[in-house]
Amino acid sequence: MEQERQHIVMLPFMAQGHFIPFLSLARLILRRHPSSTITIVNTPLNILSLRSFLPPDDPSYSPVHFASLPFASSDHNLPPNTESSDSLPGIDSLPLLMLASESLSPHFDRFLSSLDPSPLLLLADIFTSWSLPIARRLQIPAFTFSTCGAFGTASFSSLWLHLPHRLHPESPSFPVPGFPPSFRLHRSQMSHYMRVADGHDAWSTFLRRQIRLCFSSAAALLCNTVAEVEPSALRLVGEICQLPVLTVGPLVDSGHRSGREPGIGVAECVEWLGAHRPASVLYISFGSQNTIGAAQMMALAEGVEASGVPFIWVVRTPAGFDMTAEFEAERWLPEGFEERAAQGRRGLVVPRWAPQVEILSHGAIGGFLTHCGWNSVQESLSRGVPMIGWPLASEQFYNSMVIEEIGVAVEVARGVQGDVDARKVERVVRMLMQGEKGREMKEKAARCEEMMMAAVAEDGEKKGSSLRAVEEMFEMAYAMKQDTAF
Ligand code: UDP
Repeated sequence: MEQERQHIVMLPFMAQGHFIPFLSLARLILRRHPSSTITIVNTPLNILSLRSFLPPDDPSYSPVHFASLPFASSDHNLPPNTESSDSLPGIDSLPLLMLASESLSPHFDRFLSSLDPSPLLLLADIFTSWSLPIARRLQIPAFTFSTCGAFGTASFSSLWLHLPHRLHPESPSFPVPGFPPSFRLHRSQMSHYMRVADGHDAWSTFLRRQIRLCFSSAAALLCNTVAEVEPSALRLVGEICQLPVLTVGPLVDSGHRSGREPGIGVAECVEWLGAHRPASVLYISFGSQNTIGAAQMMALAEGVEASGVPFIWVVRTPAGFDMTAEFEAERWLPEGFEERAAQGRRGLVVPRWAPQVEILSHGAIGGFLTHCGWNSVQESLSRGVPMIGWPLASEQFYNSMVIEEIGVAVEVARGVQGDVDARKVERVVRMLMQGEKGREMKEKAARCEEMMMAAVAEDGEKKGSSLRAVEEMFEMAYAMKQDTAF
């Protein structure tokens, strides 16, 4: 049975941030089970972009196939050809896309029913949990893959399910159901949409439905994390979702192409970094879709400059302005900032997009000021780079908490609206890059790097925890397939 050719169907949510970890998971599965085939299902334009993410001529992806389901964005009040969250005019229209994604259900049902023999397993996304009852009806084992870490998944799920802040309207902080009683979350650690949610708005309607379906209908939850890095969060998420949890991370760096035009080439970055001492440069980036406010950008620039620490900063037009517009340094940065930075290679300002993985892999990088997107966190830790957290949205607030808890990061600011103090930025940057506490954080980050490498390593019979989790997933699916009463 183990060696039989087995078919797995994957249904990621319609967003680049979900496609990449699903593709990395496909690669991990194929590494363990090269005779499997994997079909990734999505809407036509997303299938086109998924194909374009694959590195050309990489044979490890040849057992990956794609299937398109019909989708017309204009039927859902979305702009024409809008099939993924990355092409939305703004985050305000995300609920339209989320609700529209459920219209794929009858098409997915027909697709899954048409497969003969029926697949071994469906791997759904938390946001595509509407597909789980279809799989159950067809007696196909179905698991959910959360592209977040364990603590992020636990917090996000419990908060959306229970909206606990509504029970404490006068209090700035509140307890979270399922978490230890001493744990309290602050209102500033919630996205605007969660803060104003009342359980009947479009965000909570969709997310609560998907989270409930996941908890009730998935056979297990796969998390994009490493068991040894998040041990206590693992127990927490298991208790909250009442499902077996399998950790399959770190799902990073599989050579996917982003499709974005970088503001700087890899060679130029490497050459610039090559002129700096080991672990002396701070890398600053707020991910693929977030950006900070205009006043915050000024304060960050002042603080970093005052610290005297060399930096590479990926800049984007501030929040509230046209993100697709050309970055105007003279408008958004202190006067003469770029020129002073260029002198003696003190700093490199990169517009829009940088080759992040290559930058973080360079020995000259000693710290990462990040918005705490989970991919960025894993990319940083898997290279032993400690962080300064500045979470801006969504589960980034909880990711920031967990990396502080692990001792590999310190939070400097929070959200797009809040005041940012240039002196605090200066102090925190110095502390991370030059202080004793920063040195301790670097040591802890190096230990995380070792744990992450070990999780996907194999030495004869000895397999890392994430490889064992993939085995367990197959064993559970085989057992369920044989048990027709499941
Ligand atoms: N990224 C990059 N260059 C940039 C900004 C981001 O390569 O200038 C990549 C980064 O390496 C990561 C992804 O984009 O893989 C961002 O994912 P993350 O989960 O950190 O944040 P999100 O963009 O989803 O908020």
